[in-house]
Amino acid sequence: MKIAILSLQGAFIEHARILQRLGAETFEIRQASDWDRQKDALVIPGGESTVILKLLHELNLFQSVRRAIAGGLPVFGTCAGLILLSRHLLNPRSPYERIGTMDITTCRNAYGRQLGSFFTVHDFKGAGHPLPMSFIRAPYIEKVGDGVEVLAEVDGHIVAARQGNQLVTAFHPELNDETFIHQLFVDMVRESVSSKRGSDIGK
Ligand code: GLN
Repeated sequence: MKIAILSLQGAFIEHARILQRLGAETFEIRQASDWDRQKDALVIPGGESTVILKLLHELNLFQSVRRAIAGGLPVFGTCAGLILLSRHLLNPRSPYERIGTMDITTCRNAYGRQLGSFFTVHDFKGAGHPLPMSFIRAPYIEKVGDGVEVLAEVDGHIVAARQGNQLVTAFHPELNDETFIHQLFVDMVRESVSSKRGSDIGK
């Protein structure tokens, strides 16, 4: 399984380490030519959403990335990645078009300046035990559309969700020594790879 990691800015190295520990092969997307490599999934890391978005457009990656995700390429967006995948944003700042493939309404920097960064341990659907969650100037999801499954809520705010092949967290699971959420993503990717294989055989 090959997982591409958008590596234009932000916390991408940490995702690679965890995914490799879980047996996936990873590679970095830094320019348009990297996108041509065969891949089974994409990670959009945390960082600064306005910077990542600007670079996606300037490097001519935006359309290919959006098309692939809209076409079903599994994607895991953390923090800024969640913002880029959000169909609606309550407080946008970038003039650039977002990827917008996930039916969620998001509030950027939702915890204000003082509470911008915090750590908590909280329940996550299916984990069976509370997970560590590091929030760094994080967004939260204000509203989800039909077909979006809420995976975690902290203090009444949605902080993790899934819609089909798209998984998002407002916090940074790659910064803690806990692999549950990355394993969930790897399982999603495995399922998508085997269902693709099934439909190829049927051709
Ligand atoms: N506040 C950042 C933004 O708006 C997101 C922070 C993060 O990814 N840790 O893009």
